[in-house]
Order: sequence, then C-alpha cells, then structure tokens
Amino acid sequence: MTPGRRLVFRTAATVTVAALAADVMTGCGRAALPAHALAQIRSATPTTPPPPTAPAPAAVRPAPLGHDGLPEVLSQIKTTDKVVFITVDDGWQKDPGFVKLIRDRKIPITVFLMNDAAKENYGYFRQLQQAGALIEDHTLTHPVMTRLSYAQQKYQICHSADLYAQQYGVRPTLFRAPYGISNNTTRRAAKACGMRALFFWKETARGTILYQVPGGLHPGDVILVHFLPHMTRNFLAMLKRIKKQGFTPAAFKDYLPAGYFQ
Ligand SMILES: [Zn+2]
Repeated sequence: MTPGRRLVFRTAATVTVAALAADVMTGCGRAALPAHALAQIRSATPTTPPPPTAPAPAAVRPAPLGHDGLPEVLSQIKTTDKVVFITVDDGWQKDPGFVKLIRDRKIPITVFLMNDAAKENYGYFRQLQQAGALIEDHTLTHPVMTRLSYAQQKYQICHSADLYAQQYGVRPTLFRAPYGISNNTTRRAAKACGMRALFFWKETARGTILYQVPGGLHPGDVILVHFLPHMTRNFLAMLKRIKKQGFTPAAFKDYLPAGYFQ
C-alpha cells in the first residue's frame, strides 16, 4: 500500500468516527452528514488497482517442415519412451461402449475423422472428444487423394477441417490421407489448409497387431485402428498386446511440440 493511500483511509476513518458521534448526539439514527464529509468518504473509496500487465506469451515454435517447405509425413514420433500413439480412422461404427472405455480408462487416442461417416452423428465424436480424444482431419469423402487435382484435394482437407471446427470448437491441424496414399500435391493442399503434419502409421490393429516392420513395437510408433464392428473388444485385445510388450499408449499432445496444434 502506498503512503498516500494509507493517508486516504485514515481520513475516511476520521470521517466515520465523526459520523458516529453525530448519530449518538442526535439520538435518532443516522444524522445527515455535511456535504464536504460525504465527498471525502466518496473520494476515500479505494479504487480497484489495474490488473498487472500479463506477460507476452512465449512464441510457439512452428511445426518443422520437410526440406521442401511442406508438412512432413510422420509414422513415428521421436522418443526413447516405450510409448505408442493410437489413431482411430473414419468413424462408421459408433459404439457407445468404446466411448465408455476411452473415458473410464483415460486412453489417449487421436481420431482421424471422415465427414461422410461423422455427419450422421457428430455428437458421438463430441463424446469422444470430451473423453479426451483429439479430433483430426481425414477428408470429406475418403477419396484416393492422388487421383484429385490440387483444388479438389484442398477442398477435401479444408472443408472437413472447417466443419470440425464448427462442430468441435477446434480446427484440426493434423491430416491423414485415406489409405495412406498422398503425394506432394496433398502436402501442398494440407499446408494451405493449415495442417502441420500428415500421418501415416507403423502398425495396423484389429485385435491382433500387424507390423510393417517385423520385430514388435518401437518407441513412438503410430498404430492405426478403425471404427468397425466389435471395435471395443478388439481394442481391449490390442491394449493387452501393447502392454505385454511393455508399451503404454500416449497422447500426441504430450509428445509433439505445441506448434503442431496451432
Ligand atoms: Zn480411412
């Protein structure tokens, strides 16, 4: 407190004492105060100090680009931790049991959502998002991207990202091409739509795990599963196999710098 303000409070206290004395003297409740005393009380009312100036946020390092200046295609995240990243594609099967599993066991997943499958029930994926899932971009209609022009590819990526931004409040920044088929035009279109990286995968799983590279899981591997019938049962079987190899599912957000999500 500044000395000046302390002085102001002391003045206010004096005025209050004077007002009380006037009450006692009149014996009929609060006596009217002289105008100058009222003015002093008003001026003594402490004003709210201005909030401290918030420090400027630290600049977020943008996601690294490939040598050609385009977003990279990743199938593994660099780490020595025994973690894997589970990604779930498309969105056809909407099993409530799967939401419960993700929510109850707090399993980090990334959903690469395709709009044709999502649009019949956007709410299902909102439940998954609320259970902790990241909702990312997997096109509008699941085409083979390499058969499309730049403008068509851009529409597939940008428009689904716009729709998910409306539905889920966060615009995707990660993209997976249908069938994992992409070319440099896809990467250019993805960049134009604000995508920071494209994702391929190292393993696919449907209960059992199929390895592209034999020898089991490796730190940072991206695993692909789909929204299919019996997905919850299959997912549990996959989790067992992941655990048996000493691995744990991890979240992209804990292993990729913030620049990948802005
Ligand atoms: Zn797909």
